[in-house]
Amino acid sequence: MSSLPTAADVVIVGAGTCGCILAARLSEHPGRSVVLVESGPTYASRDLCPPELTDATALPIGPRSEWVRHYPVHLTDTRAGHAVRGRVLGGSSAVNGCAFVRARPHDFAAWPADRWSYPTVLPYFRALEHDHDFGGDFHGDAGPMPVRRDGGTDLAPISTAFTHACLHAGFADDPDKNAPTAEGVGPVPLNIDGRTRVSTALAYLMPAIQRPNLTVVGDTTVRRTVFDGDVAVAVDVASADGEHRIHGGRIILCAGAIETPLLLMRSGVGRPADLRAADIPVGHPLAGVGSGFADHPEVVLPYQPVDGCDPLRPVPALQTVLNDGDIEIRPYTTSFGGQRYLGVALMNSRARGSLRLRSPQIRYNYLDTAEDRAAMRSGVDTATGLLRRLADAKVVGDFDIESTDDWLLAHLGTSQHTTGTCRMGTPDDAYAVVDDQCTVIGLQGLTIVDASIVPGPISRGVHATAVMIAERAAAFV
Ligand SMILES: Cc1cc2nc3c(=O)[nH]c(=O)nc-3n(C[C@H](O)[C@H](O)[C@H](O)COP(=O)(O)OP(=O)(O)OC[C@H]3O[C@@H](n4cnc5c(N)ncnc54)[C@H](O)[C@@H]3O)c2cc1C
Repeated sequence: MSSLPTAADVVIVGAGTCGCILAARLSEHPGRSVVLVESGPTYASRDLCPPELTDATALPIGPRSEWVRHYPVHLTDTRAGHAVRGRVLGGSSAVNGCAFVRARPHDFAAWPADRWSYPTVLPYFRALEHDHDFGGDFHGDAGPMPVRRDGGTDLAPISTAFTHACLHAGFADDPDKNAPTAEGVGPVPLNIDGRTRVSTALAYLMPAIQRPNLTVVGDTTVRRTVFDGDVAVAVDVASADGEHRIHGGRIILCAGAIETPLLLMRSGVGRPADLRAADIPVGHPLAGVGSGFADHPEVVLPYQPVDGCDPLRPVPALQTVLNDGDIEIRPYTTSFGGQRYLGVALMNSRARGSLRLRSPQIRYNYLDTAEDRAAMRSGVDTATGLLRRLADAKVVGDFDIESTDDWLLAHLGTSQHTTGTCRMGTPDDAYAVVDDQCTVIGLQGLTIVDASIVPGPISRGVHATAVMIAERAAAFV
Protein backbone atom coordinates (compact mmCIF):
# COMPACT_ATOMS: atom_id res chain seq x y z
CA MET A 1 0.00 0.00 0.00
CA SER A 2 2.01 3.04 1.21
CA SER A 3 5.81 3.24 1.03
CA LEU A 4 7.63 2.82 4.31
CA PRO A 5 7.94 5.91 6.49
CA THR A 6 11.01 6.20 8.71
CA ALA A 7 9.31 7.74 11.76
CA ALA A 8 5.93 8.55 13.32
CA ASP A 9 4.50 9.67 16.63
CA VAL A 10 2.86 6.26 17.03
CA VAL A 11 3.82 2.96 15.39
CA ILE A 12 1.14 0.26 15.66
CA VAL A 13 2.27 -3.33 15.04
CA GLY A 14 -0.50 -5.47 13.52
CA ALA A 15 -3.62 -4.22 11.70
CA GLY A 16 -5.82 -6.84 13.33
CA THR A 17 -8.93 -6.55 15.47
CA CYS A 18 -7.37 -4.09 17.93
CA GLY A 19 -4.77 -2.48 15.65
CA CYS A 20 -7.41 -1.18 13.19
CA ILE A 21 -9.35 0.42 16.05
CA LEU A 22 -6.32 2.10 17.60
CA ALA A 23 -5.16 3.39 14.21
CA ALA A 24 -8.58 4.93 13.59
CA ARG A 25 -8.95 6.40 17.09
CA LEU A 26 -5.39 7.74 17.48
CA SER A 27 -5.37 9.33 14.02
CA GLU A 28 -8.51 11.33 14.87
CA HIS A 29 -6.00 13.89 16.21
CA PRO A 30 -4.72 15.50 12.96
CA GLY A 31 -1.45 16.56 14.59
CA ARG A 32 -0.48 12.99 15.49
CA SER A 33 1.21 10.84 12.84
CA VAL A 34 0.31 7.14 12.99
CA VAL A 35 1.88 4.24 11.10
CA LEU A 36 0.05 0.90 11.07
CA VAL A 37 2.24 -2.07 10.03
CA GLU A 38 0.60 -5.36 8.96
CA SER A 39 2.39 -8.52 7.93
CA GLY A 40 -0.53 -9.70 5.79
CA PRO A 41 -2.14 -8.15 2.72
CA THR A 42 -4.06 -4.87 2.85
CA TYR A 43 -6.61 -3.04 0.69
CA ALA A 44 -7.41 0.64 0.34
CA SER A 45 -11.21 0.85 0.46
CA ARG A 46 -14.27 -1.09 1.57
CA ASP A 47 -15.08 -1.96 -2.06
CA LEU A 48 -11.69 -3.65 -2.45
CA CYS A 49 -12.14 -5.98 0.55
CA PRO A 50 -11.86 -9.55 -0.83
CA PRO A 51 -15.29 -11.30 -1.00
CA GLU A 52 -14.00 -14.30 1.02
CA LEU A 53 -13.53 -11.90 3.95
CA THR A 54 -16.94 -10.27 3.70
CA ASP A 55 -18.89 -13.55 3.37
CA ALA A 56 -20.30 -14.01 6.87
CA THR A 57 -21.42 -17.57 6.10
CA ALA A 58 -17.93 -19.07 5.73
CA LEU A 59 -14.66 -18.96 7.66
CA PRO A 60 -11.79 -18.52 5.14
CA ILE A 61 -9.30 -20.42 7.29
CA GLY A 62 -8.61 -23.67 5.40
CA PRO A 63 -5.10 -25.03 4.79
CA ARG A 64 -4.70 -23.04 1.57
CA SER A 65 -6.16 -19.77 2.88
CA GLU A 66 -4.00 -16.75 2.10
CA TRP A 67 -5.61 -14.78 4.95
CA VAL A 68 -4.36 -16.74 7.98
CA ARG A 69 -1.33 -18.14 9.79
CA HIS A 70 -1.51 -21.76 10.97
CA TYR A 71 0.38 -23.04 14.02
CA PRO A 72 0.89 -26.67 15.02
CA VAL A 73 0.01 -26.96 18.72
CA HIS A 74 -0.11 -29.45 21.59
CA LEU A 75 -3.65 -29.52 22.99
CA THR A 76 -2.49 -32.12 25.54
CA ASP A 77 0.73 -34.12 25.94
CA THR A 78 -0.61 -36.69 23.48
CA ARG A 79 -3.10 -34.79 21.32
CA ALA A 80 -1.85 -32.47 18.57
CA GLY A 81 -3.97 -29.80 16.95
CA HIS A 82 -3.62 -26.53 15.16
CA ALA A 83 -4.28 -22.91 15.91
CA VAL A 84 -5.13 -20.31 13.31
CA ARG A 85 -5.08 -16.50 13.34
CA GLY A 86 -6.06 -13.86 10.79
CA ARG A 87 -3.22 -12.34 8.80
CA VAL A 88 -4.80 -9.52 6.80
CA LEU A 89 -6.38 -6.12 7.51
CA GLY A 90 -8.80 -6.81 10.37
CA GLY A 91 -6.75 -9.81 11.56
CA SER A 92 -8.84 -12.51 13.21
CA SER A 93 -11.96 -10.30 13.05
CA ALA A 94 -11.73 -10.64 9.26
CA VAL A 95 -11.92 -14.45 9.32
CA ASN A 96 -13.79 -15.36 12.51
CA GLY A 97 -17.26 -16.75 13.20
CA CYS A 98 -18.76 -13.26 13.86
CA ALA A 99 -20.07 -14.25 17.32
CA PHE A 100 -20.01 -10.95 19.19
CA VAL A 101 -20.68 -11.82 22.82
CA ARG A 102 -19.22 -9.78 25.65
CA ALA A 103 -17.30 -11.21 28.59
CA ARG A 104 -19.60 -11.63 31.63
CA PRO A 105 -19.55 -9.03 34.44
CA HIS A 106 -17.95 -11.52 36.88
CA ASP A 107 -15.04 -12.06 34.48
CA PHE A 108 -13.87 -8.51 35.21
CA ALA A 109 -13.26 -9.31 38.90
CA ALA A 110 -9.73 -10.36 37.84
CA TRP A 111 -9.05 -7.06 36.01
CA PRO A 112 -7.42 -3.98 37.64
CA ALA A 113 -10.43 -2.29 39.22
CA ASP A 114 -9.71 1.41 38.64
CA ARG A 115 -9.66 1.31 34.86
CA TRP A 116 -11.18 -2.08 33.95
CA SER A 117 -14.04 -2.94 36.33
CA TYR A 118 -17.31 -3.96 34.64
CA PRO A 119 -19.01 -0.59 35.40
CA THR A 120 -15.96 1.19 33.94
CA VAL A 121 -15.86 -0.81 30.70
CA LEU A 122 -19.64 -0.99 30.14
CA PRO A 123 -19.78 2.49 28.49
CA TYR A 124 -17.14 1.29 26.00
CA PHE A 125 -19.11 -1.88 25.21
CA ARG A 126 -22.09 0.38 24.55
CA ALA A 127 -20.18 2.94 22.50
CA LEU A 128 -18.56 0.42 20.16
CA GLU A 129 -21.81 -1.18 18.96
CA HIS A 130 -24.98 -0.48 17.06
CA ASP A 131 -27.31 -3.10 18.47
CA HIS A 132 -30.24 -3.55 16.07
CA ASP A 133 -32.31 -5.64 18.51
CA PHE A 134 -31.93 -4.24 22.02
CA GLY A 135 -31.58 -0.78 23.60
CA GLY A 136 -31.57 0.46 27.18
CA ASP A 137 -28.79 0.69 29.73
CA PHE A 138 -26.67 -2.13 28.32
CA HIS A 139 -26.67 -1.41 24.60
CA GLY A 140 -25.52 1.20 22.14
CA ASP A 141 -27.19 2.41 18.95
CA ALA A 142 -24.50 4.54 17.34
CA GLY A 143 -21.21 2.59 17.41
CA PRO A 144 -19.19 1.27 14.46
CA MET A 145 -19.86 -2.48 15.07
CA PRO A 146 -23.32 -3.68 13.96
CA VAL A 147 -24.87 -6.35 16.19
CA ARG A 148 -27.80 -8.49 15.04
CA ARG A 149 -29.20 -11.68 16.50
CA ASP A 150 -30.38 -13.30 13.29
CA GLY A 151 -27.70 -11.68 11.18
CA GLY A 152 -30.39 -10.69 8.70
CA THR A 153 -30.26 -14.25 7.35
CA ASP A 154 -32.47 -17.32 7.57
CA LEU A 155 -32.29 -19.57 10.60
CA ALA A 156 -30.99 -23.05 9.77
CA PRO A 157 -33.33 -25.91 10.79
CA ILE A 158 -30.68 -27.15 13.26
CA SER A 159 -30.63 -23.71 14.96
CA THR A 160 -34.41 -23.64 15.41
CA ALA A 161 -34.64 -27.29 16.46
CA PHE A 162 -31.75 -26.95 18.92
CA THR A 163 -33.46 -24.00 20.61
CA HIS A 164 -36.70 -25.99 20.94
CA ALA A 165 -34.81 -29.01 22.29
CA CYS A 166 -33.11 -26.87 24.95
CA LEU A 167 -36.36 -25.19 26.00
CA HIS A 168 -38.13 -28.56 26.23
CA ALA A 169 -35.22 -29.87 28.30
CA GLY A 170 -35.87 -27.06 30.80
CA PHE A 171 -33.13 -24.56 29.91
CA ALA A 172 -34.01 -20.87 30.17
CA ASP A 173 -34.83 -18.73 27.18
CA ASP A 174 -31.95 -16.25 26.74
CA PRO A 175 -32.90 -13.69 24.10
CA ASP A 176 -29.97 -11.31 24.76
CA LYS A 177 -26.58 -12.90 25.33
CA ASN A 178 -25.03 -9.48 25.91
CA ALA A 179 -27.27 -8.76 28.91
CA PRO A 180 -25.34 -8.98 32.19
CA THR A 181 -27.29 -11.98 33.48
CA ALA A 182 -27.40 -13.99 30.24
CA GLU A 183 -27.69 -17.78 30.72
CA GLY A 184 -29.67 -20.39 28.78
CA VAL A 185 -30.40 -20.87 25.08
CA GLY A 186 -30.69 -18.01 22.63
CA PRO A 187 -29.55 -16.38 19.43
CA VAL A 188 -25.89 -15.45 19.02
CA PRO A 189 -25.25 -11.70 18.63
CA LEU A 190 -23.39 -11.42 15.31
CA ASN A 191 -21.33 -8.53 13.90
CA ILE A 192 -22.99 -8.85 10.54
CA ASP A 193 -24.61 -6.45 8.11
CA GLY A 194 -26.96 -8.45 5.88
CA ARG A 195 -24.63 -11.30 4.92
CA THR A 196 -21.46 -9.22 5.28
CA ARG A 197 -18.88 -9.93 8.00
CA VAL A 198 -18.09 -6.51 9.47
CA SER A 199 -14.49 -6.76 10.65
CA THR A 200 -12.83 -3.91 12.51
CA ALA A 201 -11.04 -3.13 9.23
CA LEU A 202 -14.42 -2.32 7.67
CA ALA A 203 -16.01 -0.74 10.74
CA TYR A 204 -13.10 1.41 11.94
CA LEU A 205 -10.15 1.56 9.55
CA MET A 206 -11.83 2.11 6.18
CA PRO A 207 -13.62 5.33 7.24
CA ALA A 208 -10.21 6.68 8.43
CA ILE A 209 -7.84 5.29 5.83
CA GLN A 210 -7.60 8.45 3.72
CA ARG A 211 -6.42 10.64 6.60
CA PRO A 212 -3.09 12.30 5.71
CA ASN A 213 -1.65 11.56 9.17
CA LEU A 214 -2.35 7.79 8.92
CA THR A 215 -0.08 5.47 6.92
CA VAL A 216 -1.03 1.81 6.49
CA VAL A 217 1.81 -0.48 5.41
CA GLY A 218 0.99 -4.05 4.33
CA ASP A 219 3.04 -7.19 3.58
CA THR A 220 5.56 -5.99 6.14
CA THR A 221 6.51 -7.94 9.25
CA VAL A 222 7.91 -6.40 12.41
CA ARG A 223 10.91 -8.50 13.45
CA ARG A 224 11.76 -6.83 16.75
CA THR A 225 11.35 -3.77 18.91
CA VAL A 226 14.46 -1.63 19.30
CA PHE A 227 15.33 -0.14 22.72
CA ASP A 228 17.50 2.72 23.91
CA GLY A 229 18.07 1.59 27.48
CA ASP A 230 14.58 0.96 28.88
CA VAL A 231 12.83 3.04 26.23
CA ALA A 232 11.30 1.50 23.08
CA VAL A 233 12.29 3.77 20.21
CA ALA A 234 11.73 1.88 16.94
CA VAL A 235 10.77 -1.35 15.21
CA ASP A 236 12.80 -3.29 12.68
CA VAL A 237 10.66 -4.52 9.81
CA ALA A 238 11.09 -6.82 6.83
CA SER A 239 9.23 -6.48 3.54
CA ALA A 240 9.80 -7.42 -0.10
CA ASP A 241 12.05 -4.32 -0.32
CA GLY A 242 14.36 -5.57 2.43
CA GLU A 243 14.89 -4.54 6.04
CA HIS A 244 14.00 -1.12 7.46
CA ARG A 245 13.75 0.69 10.78
CA ILE A 246 10.71 2.81 11.73
CA HIS A 247 11.18 5.12 14.71
CA GLY A 248 8.19 5.81 16.95
CA GLY A 249 7.43 8.08 19.89
CA ARG A 250 5.29 5.19 21.12
CA ILE A 251 5.25 1.60 19.91
CA ILE A 252 1.94 -0.25 20.34
CA LEU A 253 1.93 -4.01 19.87
CA CYS A 254 -1.39 -5.31 18.49
CA ALA A 255 -0.03 -8.51 16.94
CA GLY A 256 -2.48 -10.78 18.80
CA ALA A 257 -2.25 -13.34 21.59
CA ILE A 258 0.25 -15.55 19.75
CA GLU A 259 2.50 -13.12 17.88
CA THR A 260 2.75 -10.33 20.49
CA PRO A 261 4.56 -12.48 23.10
CA LEU A 262 6.76 -14.01 20.38
CA LEU A 263 7.69 -10.52 19.20
CA LEU A 264 8.55 -9.49 22.77
CA MET A 265 10.75 -12.57 23.14
CA ARG A 266 12.53 -11.86 19.85
CA SER A 267 13.18 -8.36 21.22
CA GLY A 268 14.83 -9.75 24.37
CA VAL A 269 11.80 -9.34 26.67
CA GLY A 270 10.62 -12.50 28.41
CA ARG A 271 11.51 -15.38 30.67
CA PRO A 272 15.32 -15.51 30.78
CA ALA A 273 15.46 -19.31 30.44
CA ASP A 274 13.29 -19.18 27.29
CA LEU A 275 15.34 -16.39 25.75
CA ARG A 276 18.65 -18.14 26.43
CA ALA A 277 17.25 -21.40 25.01
CA ALA A 278 16.61 -19.47 21.78
CA ASP A 279 20.04 -17.73 21.86
CA ILE A 280 18.47 -14.32 22.45
CA PRO A 281 20.25 -11.92 24.83
CA VAL A 282 18.07 -11.04 27.84
CA GLY A 283 17.25 -7.34 27.56
CA HIS A 284 14.41 -7.17 30.06
CA PRO A 285 13.36 -10.20 32.14
CA LEU A 286 9.57 -10.63 32.40
CA ALA A 287 8.41 -14.05 33.58
CA GLY A 288 4.81 -13.66 32.39
CA VAL A 289 5.53 -13.37 28.66
CA GLY A 290 3.84 -16.40 27.08
CA SER A 291 3.04 -18.00 30.45
CA GLY A 292 -0.26 -19.20 31.85
CA PHE A 293 -2.60 -18.36 28.98
CA ALA A 294 -6.27 -19.34 28.87
CA ASP A 295 -8.51 -20.69 26.09
CA HIS A 296 -11.72 -22.69 25.74
CA PRO A 297 -11.24 -26.42 25.02
CA GLU A 298 -13.94 -27.78 22.73
CA VAL A 299 -15.04 -31.38 22.20
CA VAL A 300 -16.97 -31.91 18.98
CA LEU A 301 -19.86 -34.38 18.67
CA PRO A 302 -20.45 -35.48 15.05
CA TYR A 303 -24.05 -35.32 13.83
CA GLN A 304 -25.73 -35.87 10.49
CA PRO A 305 -28.69 -33.69 9.47
CA VAL A 306 -31.51 -35.77 7.95
CA ASP A 307 -32.64 -34.99 4.39
CA GLY A 308 -34.45 -31.68 4.18
CA CYS A 309 -32.84 -30.37 7.38
CA ASP A 310 -29.98 -28.52 5.71
CA PRO A 311 -30.27 -24.73 5.45
CA LEU A 312 -31.73 -23.66 2.09
CA ARG A 313 -28.83 -21.29 1.59
CA PRO A 314 -25.57 -20.70 3.49
CA VAL A 315 -25.97 -19.12 6.93
CA PRO A 316 -23.47 -18.07 9.63
CA ALA A 317 -21.67 -21.00 11.25
CA LEU A 318 -23.28 -20.46 14.65
CA GLN A 319 -26.71 -18.87 15.07
CA THR A 320 -27.81 -20.10 18.47
CA VAL A 321 -26.00 -21.33 21.55
CA LEU A 322 -26.69 -22.80 24.99
CA ASN A 323 -24.82 -21.44 28.01
CA ASP A 324 -25.20 -23.74 31.01
CA GLY A 325 -22.84 -22.64 33.78
CA ASP A 326 -19.28 -23.15 32.51
CA ILE A 327 -20.47 -25.16 29.50
CA GLU A 328 -21.31 -23.72 26.09
CA ILE A 329 -23.02 -25.98 23.52
CA ARG A 330 -22.74 -24.86 19.89
CA PRO A 331 -24.89 -26.39 17.12
CA TYR A 332 -22.74 -25.53 14.10
CA THR A 333 -24.75 -25.07 10.92
CA THR A 334 -21.84 -25.66 8.55
CA SER A 335 -19.46 -28.57 8.03
CA PHE A 336 -15.83 -28.64 9.09
CA GLY A 337 -13.78 -31.09 7.00
CA GLY A 338 -17.03 -32.43 5.54
CA GLN A 339 -18.58 -33.23 8.96
CA ARG A 340 -21.28 -31.40 10.94
CA TYR A 341 -20.69 -31.01 14.70
CA LEU A 342 -22.25 -29.99 17.98
CA GLY A 343 -19.44 -28.27 19.91
CA VAL A 344 -19.14 -28.56 23.70
CA ALA A 345 -16.78 -25.94 25.12
CA LEU A 346 -15.49 -25.41 28.63
CA MET A 347 -15.75 -21.65 29.16
CA ASN A 348 -13.96 -21.49 32.51
CA SER A 349 -11.26 -24.10 32.03
CA ARG A 350 -8.55 -24.44 34.66
CA ALA A 351 -6.00 -25.30 31.96
CA ARG A 352 -3.19 -22.78 31.57
CA GLY A 353 -1.00 -22.94 28.50
CA SER A 354 2.49 -21.82 27.60
CA LEU A 355 3.99 -20.29 24.51
CA ARG A 356 7.71 -20.44 23.70
CA LEU A 357 9.98 -19.57 20.80
CA ARG A 358 11.38 -23.08 20.66
CA SER A 359 9.34 -26.15 19.71
CA PRO A 360 6.94 -27.28 21.09
CA GLN A 361 5.91 -23.68 20.75
CA ILE A 362 2.28 -23.72 21.95
CA ARG A 363 1.01 -26.04 24.71
CA TYR A 364 -2.60 -25.73 25.96
CA ASN A 365 -2.51 -28.40 28.72
CA TYR A 366 -6.24 -29.01 28.09
CA LEU A 367 -8.14 -31.44 30.35
CA ASP A 368 -5.12 -31.67 32.65
CA THR A 369 -7.24 -31.49 35.79
CA ALA A 370 -9.84 -33.94 37.08
CA GLU A 371 -12.26 -30.99 37.46
CA ASP A 372 -12.01 -30.06 33.77
CA ARG A 373 -12.42 -33.67 32.66
CA ALA A 374 -15.51 -34.06 34.87
CA ALA A 375 -16.98 -30.76 33.62
CA MET A 376 -16.37 -31.76 30.00
CA ARG A 377 -17.91 -35.22 30.50
CA SER A 378 -20.97 -33.60 32.04
CA GLY A 379 -21.22 -31.13 29.11
CA VAL A 380 -20.97 -33.98 26.61
CA ASP A 381 -23.75 -35.84 28.48
CA THR A 382 -25.97 -32.74 28.27
CA ALA A 383 -25.21 -32.36 24.56
CA THR A 384 -25.91 -36.06 23.95
CA GLY A 385 -29.32 -35.63 25.60
CA LEU A 386 -30.04 -32.71 23.28
CA LEU A 387 -28.92 -34.71 20.23
CA ARG A 388 -31.30 -37.47 21.31
CA ARG A 389 -34.16 -34.96 21.31
CA LEU A 390 -33.07 -33.75 17.86
CA ALA A 391 -33.00 -37.34 16.60
CA ASP A 392 -36.50 -37.94 18.05
CA ALA A 393 -37.65 -34.81 16.20
CA LYS A 394 -36.10 -36.29 13.02
CA VAL A 395 -33.71 -33.36 12.56
CA VAL A 396 -30.53 -35.43 12.92
CA GLY A 397 -29.76 -39.08 12.24
CA ASP A 398 -28.31 -41.74 14.55
CA PHE A 399 -25.16 -40.85 16.44
CA ASP A 400 -22.53 -42.65 18.45
CA ILE A 401 -21.06 -40.69 21.34
CA GLU A 402 -19.24 -41.74 24.50
CA SER A 403 -18.17 -39.58 27.37
CA THR A 404 -15.05 -41.56 28.30
CA ASP A 405 -11.75 -39.71 28.65
CA ASP A 406 -10.37 -41.49 25.55
CA TRP A 407 -13.35 -40.44 23.42
CA LEU A 408 -13.15 -36.85 24.67
CA LEU A 409 -9.45 -36.72 23.83
CA ALA A 410 -10.02 -38.09 20.32
CA HIS A 411 -12.60 -35.35 19.66
CA LEU A 412 -10.80 -32.48 21.40
CA GLY A 413 -10.05 -29.18 19.68
CA THR A 414 -9.70 -25.53 20.56
CA SER A 415 -12.14 -22.60 20.28
CA GLN A 416 -9.29 -20.33 19.01
CA HIS A 417 -9.95 -18.02 21.98
CA THR A 418 -6.42 -17.61 23.38
CA THR A 419 -6.02 -14.79 25.91
CA GLY A 420 -3.56 -13.75 28.58
CA THR A 421 -0.18 -14.48 26.98
CA CYS A 422 0.97 -11.01 28.21
CA ARG A 423 -1.53 -10.41 30.93
CA MET A 424 -2.39 -7.15 32.64
CA GLY A 425 -1.77 -6.85 36.37
CA THR A 426 -0.21 -4.91 39.18
CA PRO A 427 3.59 -4.44 39.28
CA ASP A 428 3.82 -6.71 42.36
CA ASP A 429 2.38 -9.60 40.31
CA ALA A 430 5.46 -11.48 39.07
CA TYR A 431 3.56 -12.75 36.01
CA ALA A 432 2.01 -9.43 34.95
CA VAL A 433 3.41 -8.11 31.66
CA VAL A 434 1.50 -4.82 31.30
CA ASP A 435 0.11 -2.41 33.87
CA ASP A 436 -3.46 -1.11 33.89
CA GLN A 437 -2.54 1.45 31.21
CA CYS A 438 -1.29 -1.35 28.95
CA THR A 439 2.36 -0.26 29.26
CA VAL A 440 4.94 -3.05 29.45
CA ILE A 441 6.09 -3.15 33.07
CA GLY A 442 9.58 -1.74 33.58
CA LEU A 443 9.83 -0.26 30.07
CA GLN A 444 8.81 3.06 28.56
CA GLY A 445 7.22 3.80 25.22
CA LEU A 446 6.00 0.22 24.71
CA THR A 447 2.30 -0.61 24.98
CA ILE A 448 0.31 -3.77 24.26
CA VAL A 449 -3.32 -3.60 23.18
CA ASP A 450 -4.77 -6.92 22.04
CA ALA A 451 -6.18 -10.20 23.36
CA SER A 452 -2.84 -11.07 24.95
CA ILE A 453 -3.39 -8.64 27.86
CA VAL A 454 -6.66 -10.14 29.15
CA PRO A 455 -5.87 -10.76 32.86
CA GLY A 456 -7.92 -13.88 33.55
CA PRO A 457 -10.12 -16.39 31.75
CA ILE A 458 -13.21 -14.89 30.13
CA SER A 459 -16.30 -17.04 29.92
CA ARG A 460 -17.39 -16.03 26.41
CA GLY A 461 -15.65 -15.55 23.03
CA VAL A 462 -12.92 -12.91 22.77
CA HIS A 463 -13.95 -10.73 19.85
CA ALA A 464 -16.32 -8.22 21.51
CA THR A 465 -14.01 -7.94 24.51
CA ALA A 466 -10.97 -7.32 22.27
CA VAL A 467 -12.85 -4.48 20.55
CA MET A 468 -13.71 -3.04 23.98
CA ILE A 469 -10.05 -3.28 25.07
CA ALA A 470 -8.93 -1.27 22.04
CA GLU A 471 -11.63 1.38 22.49
CA ARG A 472 -10.86 1.65 26.22
CA ALA A 473 -7.09 1.79 25.70
CA ALA A 474 -7.42 4.45 23.00
CA ALA A 475 -8.84 6.72 25.68
CA PHE A 476 -5.54 6.85 27.60
CA VAL A 477 -2.71 5.49 25.42
C1 LIG B 1 -10.90 -18.81 13.09
C2 LIG B 1 -11.27 -17.98 14.29
C3 LIG B 1 -12.62 -17.87 14.64
C4 LIG B 1 -12.97 -17.12 15.76
N1 LIG B 1 -14.29 -16.91 16.01
C5 LIG B 1 -14.65 -16.08 17.01
C6 LIG B 1 -16.01 -15.73 17.20
O1 LIG B 1 -16.89 -16.09 16.40
N2 LIG B 1 -16.32 -14.96 18.28
C7 LIG B 1 -15.37 -14.52 19.16
O2 LIG B 1 -15.72 -13.86 20.14
N3 LIG B 1 -14.06 -14.78 18.96
C8 LIG B 1 -13.68 -15.51 17.89
N4 LIG B 1 -12.36 -15.73 17.64
C9 LIG B 1 -11.36 -15.05 18.48
C10 LIG B 1 -11.22 -13.56 18.14
O3 LIG B 1 -11.51 -13.32 16.78
C11 LIG B 1 -9.79 -13.11 18.45
O4 LIG B 1 -9.47 -13.48 19.77
C12 LIG B 1 -9.60 -11.61 18.34
O5 LIG B 1 -10.12 -11.15 17.11
C13 LIG B 1 -8.12 -11.29 18.47
O6 LIG B 1 -7.86 -9.94 18.21
P1 LIG B 1 -6.36 -9.37 18.33
O7 LIG B 1 -6.41 -7.91 17.98
O8 LIG B 1 -5.80 -9.74 19.64
O9 LIG B 1 -5.50 -10.17 17.24
P2 LIG B 1 -5.72 -10.37 15.68
O10 LIG B 1 -7.06 -9.90 15.27
O11 LIG B 1 -5.37 -11.78 15.38
O12 LIG B 1 -4.68 -9.37 15.01
C14 LIG B 1 -3.30 -9.53 14.98
C15 LIG B 1 -2.77 -8.89 13.69
O13 LIG B 1 -1.38 -8.66 13.82
C16 LIG B 1 -0.72 -9.04 12.62
N5 LIG B 1 0.66 -9.38 12.98
C17 LIG B 1 1.05 -10.41 13.77
N6 LIG B 1 2.39 -10.38 13.92
C18 LIG B 1 2.84 -9.31 13.22
C19 LIG B 1 4.14 -8.77 13.00
N7 LIG B 1 5.22 -9.32 13.56
N8 LIG B 1 4.25 -7.68 12.21
C20 LIG B 1 3.14 -7.11 11.64
N9 LIG B 1 1.88 -7.59 11.83
C21 LIG B 1 1.75 -8.68 12.61
C22 LIG B 1 -1.54 -10.23 12.14
O14 LIG B 1 -1.31 -10.49 10.78
C23 LIG B 1 -2.96 -9.78 12.46
O15 LIG B 1 -3.52 -9.02 11.41
C24 LIG B 1 -11.97 -16.48 16.54
C25 LIG B 1 -10.63 -16.60 16.19
C26 LIG B 1 -10.27 -17.32 15.06
C27 LIG B 1 -8.82 -17.38 14.67
